[in-house]
Amino acid sequence: MTTIRKQTLTGVIYDLKKYAIHDGPGIRTTVFLKGCPLNCWWCHNPESRSPNPQPRGNMRPIKNLPLLQNNQNLIGVAVTVDALIREVRKDILFFDESGGGVTFSGGEPLLQPWFLQAALQACHAEGIRTAVDTTGVAAFEAIESLASFVDLFLYDIKLLDNTLHRKYTGVSNRLILENLLKMHRAGYPIRIRIPLIPDITDTMENLQAICDFLLNKTGLREVELLPYNSMGKSKYERLQMEFRLQKHTIQSETEMEANRERFRQKGFQVVI
Ligand code: SF4
Repeated sequence: MTTIRKQTLTGVIYDLKKYAIHDGPGIRTTVFLKGCPLNCWWCHNPESRSPNPQPRGNMRPIKNLPLLQNNQNLIGVAVTVDALIREVRKDILFFDESGGGVTFSGGEPLLQPWFLQAALQACHAEGIRTAVDTTGVAAFEAIESLASFVDLFLYDIKLLDNTLHRKYTGVSNRLILENLLKMHRAGYPIRIRIPLIPDITDTMENLQAICDFLLNKTGLREVELLPYNSMGKSKYERLQMEFRLQKHTIQSETEMEANRERFRQKGFQVVI
């Protein structure tokens, strides 16, 4: 990638969440880029999958944010880097006070690498810290080209067993694990995130396998456990999409504590 002036580049986003506290350190603005190469059974954001703006169906308009109001009948709008930065800049005081910043999430933000790189670069030029929430399904060269503008990668690991990974996400986990090792070797700041989906990713075998992988292959000792909730189910109905995760069990506090303890005992710092 080149580093030409890119403020007028456009990317497609489908949401922008202010005052987010679960997408990295401090108070953050999370920008949700459209498009995802995975197709997870439990996905909370089915509207993120398609890379293009799509009919809103019965989904409610998100909020009164001019940046997202190009066309109220569509999910997803094209925004320029300039327009995005003008919006996120409004909360720079909150970022500075709390150690927060901007998180680029998705979907998979690396599906729009040019826009992502330009937006990250523009944030840094404003003194805004950045995080990228990634599935790891991207060319390593794309990750490498923007890593110097990223203060933290939030890196999802879902399933270590590749057959199960293919079944429940639609893709192999090989590239995800390879990229993680390369990123770790390159010294990029990474926090592992594990979505805990009852009976799928939240099993003794899977969590033990992730533990062992991180212990044996990396020096990464910080994990974030993301409890499952079924709030995304109604979105499937509104978008007339099939929701394949019919179980709606939610982990109890005791179960979450047991999961936390499993990682703690192995020397991990655990965030829930
Ligand atoms: S990676 Fe995330 S956004 Fe993509 S399908 Fe899975 S849960 Fe949804």
